[in-house]
Amino acid sequence: MKNEHCIGCGVAIQIERPGELGFTPSSALEKEEIICQRCFRLRHYNEVQDVELSDQSFLDILHAVGNTKSLIVKIIDIFDFNGSWIPGIQRFVGKNPVLLIGNKVDLLPKSTNKNKLVNWMKKQSKEMGLSPLDVLLVSAEKGHGIQEALVEIDNLRQGQDVYVVGCTNVGKSTFINRVIKAAAGGNDVITTSHVPGTTLDMIEIPLDDGKSLVDTPGIINHHQMAHYVSKKDLKMITPKKEIKPRVYQLNESQTLFFGGLARLDYINGGRRSVVCYLANSIDIHRTKLEKADELYEKHAGEMLKPPGKGELEAFPKLVRHEFKLKDNKMDIVFSGLGWVTLKEQGAHVAAYAPKGVSVLLRPSLI
Ligand code: GDP
Repeated sequence: MKNEHCIGCGVAIQIERPGELGFTPSSALEKEEIICQRCFRLRHYNEVQDVELSDQSFLDILHAVGNTKSLIVKIIDIFDFNGSWIPGIQRFVGKNPVLLIGNKVDLLPKSTNKNKLVNWMKKQSKEMGLSPLDVLLVSAEKGHGIQEALVEIDNLRQGQDVYVVGCTNVGKSTFINRVIKAAAGGNDVITTSHVPGTTLDMIEIPLDDGKSLVDTPGIINHHQMAHYVSKKDLKMITPKKEIKPRVYQLNESQTLFFGGLARLDYINGGRRSVVCYLANSIDIHRTKLEKADELYEKHAGEMLKPPGKGELEAFPKLVRHEFKLKDNKMDIVFSGLGWVTLKEQGAHVAAYAPKGVSVLLRPSLI
C-alpha cells in the first residue's frame, strides 16, 4: 500500500487496526478517493464513531427491539431531522416495518407544504438506508395529527407489539403521554423535560389485544447543540413557537452571527438572499467578513450571545466548515440550532459551529 491519506481528515490510512484512527477496510482502497472509516460514517450516516460506554446500553436496547417481531415507530424532531436521526437505525430494525413520525411540526412556518415535507422525509430516510412504510407529521405538544397516528399505528402493527424509539428531546415522552391520554383518558404519566436524556425506563402501555406499546429510552445524539450549552441557553435556543423565517440580502464578504453560537460567512457568489430558520429568540447579527473574527473576539458573551459571559469558557471553540453549493435550494444545517436556506447554486460559504456540533448540507426542507 502506498502512503495514503484520508481526503476527509488527512489522517494516514491504515488497514490493520479497526477502531483506531485512519482505519479503512481494504476493499475501500480501490476507490479513487480514499476516506477513512470514521469520516465515511460521519459523512454518510451523520454518526460519530467513538461510541461511549453509556451509549452501549442504548444500542443493546435497539438490538433487542430489532430481534422482536413488531412495528417500530421512530420519532424524529422535524426541526432537527439529522440531529435526531438514530445513527445506524436501519441495521437494528431488521425486517420489522417502520412508521416514521416527524414531531414538532407546529414549529415550521404555517405556509410549509406538508406533502412536500413528507416526500422530503421519505427521500432523506431512503438515503440513510431506511424505508418506512409510512411517514406522518404530528405535533405531540399541540395534539395535532395524534389521532391519525394512532389509527395508522393500529393499521400497520397487524396484531404485533409496537416499539417507540427516538433520540432524546424529540418529544417522545410528550407523544407517549398523548397516546396514553387518548387510550385511557388519564393525565401525564411521563415527565417531559428540556434536559436531554431524562426519560430512562421502558414504559409499556397495554393495547386492546393484549399486546403492548413500549416506550424505549431516548438515545443521546452527541453532535446536537443541546449538549454544549447550559440549561438556560438550551431553553432559549429551542424554538417554542412557529419559526418566523428571517431573510437577509447578503453581499459577498458578509457574515451573519447567530447569537454567539454559530456563524455563516458568505464568501462569494454574487448578491443573494439567504433565509434563516432559527428560534425567534436568537439574535442575528450581520457584519463584514473582514471584521467578523475581531467582533467575535470582542463581543462574544455580550452582544453575541448566548452563551453568556459566564459560560464562554466551557463553550467549545467554533469550527469552520467550508461549502461550495453546486445545487439549487440547499440548507446548511447547524445541528439542533436550525438552518439557513440558499435558493440558488454557486454560493461559496463557511459555516461555523461549536466543536462537536455537526454542520451539514442537505436539499432544502421547506
Ligand atoms: P423526549 O426526550 O423525546 O421524551 O422529549 P420530551 O417529550 O421530553 O420533549 C422534549 C422537549 O420538546 C420539551 O421541551 C417539549 O415541550 C418539546 N416538545 C415535545 N413535543 C413538541 C411539539 O410537538 N412541538 C413543540 N414545539 N415542542 C415539543
